[in-house]
Amino acid sequence: MKIEQLFDPATSTYSYLLWDEKTRQAALIDSVKEQTARDIKLIRQLGLQLKYTLETHIHADHVTGSGLLRDEFNSQAAVHKNSESECADLLLSDGETLKLGDETIDIIYTPGHTNTDITYHVGNKLFTGDALLINGCGRTDFQSGDAKALYHSITEKLFPLDDNTIVYPGHDYNGFTSSTIGREKAFNPRLGNNKSEKEFIAIMDSLILDPPARIDIAVPGNLQCGLDPV
Ligand code: FE
Repeated sequence: MKIEQLFDPATSTYSYLLWDEKTRQAALIDSVKEQTARDIKLIRQLGLQLKYTLETHIHADHVTGSGLLRDEFNSQAAVHKNSESECADLLLSDGETLKLGDETIDIIYTPGHTNTDITYHVGNKLFTGDALLINGCGRTDFQSGDAKALYHSITEKLFPLDDNTIVYPGHDYNGFTSSTIGREKAFNPRLGNNKSEKEFIAIMDSLILDPPARIDIAVPGNLQCGLDPV
């Protein structure tokens, strides 16, 4: 599987274009509406057939481009079933798989940041959204966030994977582009080095964070695939 990491500087969001070289079937993880023109151009230049737009969760900080991309490429918009999104074409559950040619994308449900979080597992790569970040993790203080659930998602579903598994996060604010399970297991200040559930919850409870600037626009916008209500 080929991978291109794309960045939206306004929201520090990473999008990921994945494709199977043989069939040119592609998926775009966490598209950003403002970057749709860039993404359409790239997909065309590479001669790809966009099959899916995949959300790692219902975002509170940016609006997806999935609706506009569907208009352009006839792609299917996919999101976790707990979102109850009416615009989505596919409502995904833990353990399901999606195909790009012969390549497989596994769906791992990793709730805690929200109750709609999916980590996409492709070969030795994980697209963790806002569940596991580099030296951090998603906040758990709004939008059905649950620190205990996030602790179990990361320590029981992601940390047991091979240490060399590459971690591609949904955001980074410090200039990093990827990590590995081994590195996060050892050094993640919130969960690494065998931190207990109690220690993790205490850390998450002590964070004092402003609400995301665009939450009132982003959450309803994402439930409509970034398209205006008709
Ligand atoms: Fe998020």
